Amino acid sequence: MHELLLATRNQGKLREFAAIFDGLGLALRTLDDLDIPDEIEETGQTFAANAVLKAEGYMALSGLPTLADDSGLEVAALGGAPGVYSARYGGVKGEAQLRYLLDQLRDVPWHARLARFVCVIALACPGRPTELAEGTLPGVIELEPRGSGGFGYDPLFYLLDEDRTMAELPAERKNQISHRAAAARAAREILSRWANEL
Ligand code: IMP
Repeated sequence: MHELLLATRNQGKLREFAAIFDGLGLALRTLDDLDIPDEIEETGQTFAANAVLKAEGYMALSGLPTLADDSGLEVAALGGAPGVYSARYGGVKGEAQLRYLLDQLRDVPWHARLARFVCVIALACPGRPTELAEGTLPGVIELEPRGSGGFGYDPLFYLLDEDRTMAELPAERKNQISHRAAAARAAREILSRWANEL
């Protein structure tokens, strides 16, 4: 059985990846399992650059094939912001961050509030070129937060097909349609190709 390091400490992400990679015969390890400290900073200008930095950095530290992801929200009317700065947008967190985003979009009408969640996964393996898998999910930035599920920008992210915000969706449904699930499914294809080549 091959080991794969998931460069995350987020238990929710770990569960999502474990479900999607089920049946590949991989033994998933986390940074905590291997006692690896947070050493790699997200200094890139793009999701892909950050994912590659982390995947290759933690591969070098562990010697294991490594998966790292970077994700965030892009709002069309804000030229793609907050993008790679999603976690620290406006220098605030939580509810204040939602208020900050709403304030930036104060004069933007409903039809111009197009946005998307993006997730890029990098897979690094000793002796191979690093490969990328991407997933996106389109939505509209709501006028007010709604719902209590999920995290981050979920209460402001309205999904047309579901007629609900991401924070109003059951967790299982979010995990089927999310940008991270789409990227993880693409990553699964890469991992099964690698397994056949080994
Ligand atoms: P990271 O990829 O874990 O670094 O996520 C960066 C930031 O993007 C998070 O702190 C959130 O603000 C935002 N984000 C990423 N994925 C989601 C999501 O599924 N829902 C809401 N916000 C998200």
